[in-house]
Amino acid sequence: MYDIQALRKEFPILGREVYGRPLVYLDNAATTQKPRAVVDAITEEYFSVNANVHRGVHYLSQQATELHEAAREKVRAFIGARSTNEVVFTRGTTESINLVASSFGEAFMREGDEVILTVMEHHSNIVPWQLLGQRRGVKIKVVPMDDDGRLDLAEYEKLFTSRTKIVAVCHVSNVLGAENPVGRMAEIAHAHGAHILVDAAQSVPHLPVDVAALGCDFLVFSAHKVYGPTGLGVLYGREDLLERMPPYQGGGEMISRVTFERTTFEQLPFKFEAGTPDYIGTHALAAALAFVERTGLENIARHEHALVRRAVERMQHVDGMRIYGAAEDKGAVVAFNVAGIHPLDLGTLLDRLGVAIRTGHHCAQPLMQRFGTEGMARLSIAMYNTEEEIDRFADALERVCRMF
Ligand code: PLP
Repeated sequence: MYDIQALRKEFPILGREVYGRPLVYLDNAATTQKPRAVVDAITEEYFSVNANVHRGVHYLSQQATELHEAAREKVRAFIGARSTNEVVFTRGTTESINLVASSFGEAFMREGDEVILTVMEHHSNIVPWQLLGQRRGVKIKVVPMDDDGRLDLAEYEKLFTSRTKIVAVCHVSNVLGAENPVGRMAEIAHAHGAHILVDAAQSVPHLPVDVAALGCDFLVFSAHKVYGPTGLGVLYGREDLLERMPPYQGGGEMISRVTFERTTFEQLPFKFEAGTPDYIGTHALAAALAFVERTGLENIARHEHALVRRAVERMQHVDGMRIYGAAEDKGAVVAFNVAGIHPLDLGTLLDRLGVAIRTGHHCAQPLMQRFGTEGMARLSIAMYNTEEEIDRFADALERVCRMF
């Protein structure tokens, strides 16, 4: 039984009003709202445990270290990694990808080597590779897709050469919302002697993600999109690869011994965690993942899919509606345009009616170019959204369209 009203009570912000109307928050792909359990974890740790982790001999430091490392174990189990050595905490998906591009690039890529991306990548999975390209003379190749947003796997396979070192692909696009066949893409990459990074920023909150089942070498996500705190992310990396990659940043925590002549580095995963980590954030992320587990990812997916189906059904009746990507297998994201109405106007007017959606290029300008548009409107759903909210969105959309 999915008790949506009980669930919503765990998210106090959902009870607020904007412009004198009850808030309908449909911008969850940008960031999710936080349950009490997450905010409580933050306050409890600040009020009763707070101390810097890892090197302290005193009680509080040891307790804070235990919570921080317990969070790493929670993440490990959540994504099915073999060892906590494979779980690196970062500032977010973006930093995780920059870390891999920089460090994997330095260890394994030479001038003329190639990376394969897809046309639907978020800028954070494009620009770090371009920066690497500028530094190292690495080439970027792009997997095309059809008009429904399905990647062309035959073309994908043709892109490989003996110089292809890595593929970096989103598990779920933040615009099109459908799941990419990353397991199959990993098999193909490995058959060609290449590695694969999966950007799971938009999948971890919505479907069970298991790094072993996917067969990926790296997987990245952000805490704030999975009901956790901002400014924290995860990099999963296969231990044998991380072992061979150089540190990304230098500083405290990541060293074993320092002299002015030479420094030796800490073991994994600390080699990649320079400076004081966000140990309060990691404890809060563990609380968020526990909350997701209690609710059940399969229940969440079923609930969200039903809401997406309802949204699409209602939206299709709007004159001039174009929904981007195959409607039938969408997870929690629906991007659209209405002919003759600028998406920014749509977003602004919906906001006045209490409905929060996102408009613009969604940090995916190459994808906008692929569809020949400057921008799109996008609603994105989370575990706490309701059928009534979808109807309020659709009613508001119809009203705005009538005004035009
Ligand atoms: N990748 C995808 C698919 C995303 O949707 C996002 C954020 O919207 C990111 C990467 C970047 O995440 P962050 O800004 O948390 O680093």
